[in-house]
Amino acid sequence: MQLTNRSKVVVDKKMTFMERIYIPAILGGMKITLSHLFKKKATIQYPEQQREFSFVYRGKHILKRDEQGRENCTACGLCAVSCPAEAITIIADERKKGEEHLYREEKYASLYEINMLRCIFCGLCEEACPKDAVYLTEELVPAQYNRKDFIYGKDKLVQPLGTSAHPKTYKPYKK
Ligand code: SF4
Ligand code: SF4
Repeated sequence: MQLTNRSKVVVDKKMTFMERIYIPAILGGMKITLSHLFKKKATIQYPEQQREFSFVYRGKHILKRDEQGRENCTACGLCAVSCPAEAITIIADERKKGEEHLYREEKYASLYEINMLRCIFCGLCEEACPKDAVYLTEELVPAQYNRKDFIYGKDKLVQPLGTSAHPKTYKPYKK
């Protein structure tokens, strides 16, 4: 009994002489290969050549400094709370006397980590930040061999001193 009409009868038909020598099939394949030689290539020679990213591309995060080189982040935790992937870990600390040149606010993040394996680069942390501190740049997060190397701490996240605070990239300041 047939439940559907989608079943097909398989025919075990004998191959013809031309099918058995395979030459027409090989020539047909060569014709397709040769025709592709003259078509525009869909691939590029990465990493020598790179495609331009979309202007809305979101890559690796940066923790920004202000014009005086102080860290903007006040460890309020709003970015961590808004992160749907629970990728951000923060430990807050009080700024001590004499550290005013390091941290803009009285509280700062002594630990700020983002797990790049969890992160989905949605940008919600950037949206949530009231201190203009965290931004997603156009940098790629490179491949690693170990999972622990995808945990980015402040050493990899804080904007290097002497670089511009452009939200998308951090190129050296133009003199
Ligand atoms: S970009 Fe999205 S997923 Fe990644 S850390 Fe920010 S809020 Fe979390
Ligand atoms: S990056 Fe912004 S939202 Fe996150 S803890 Fe720092 S100040 Fe708060």
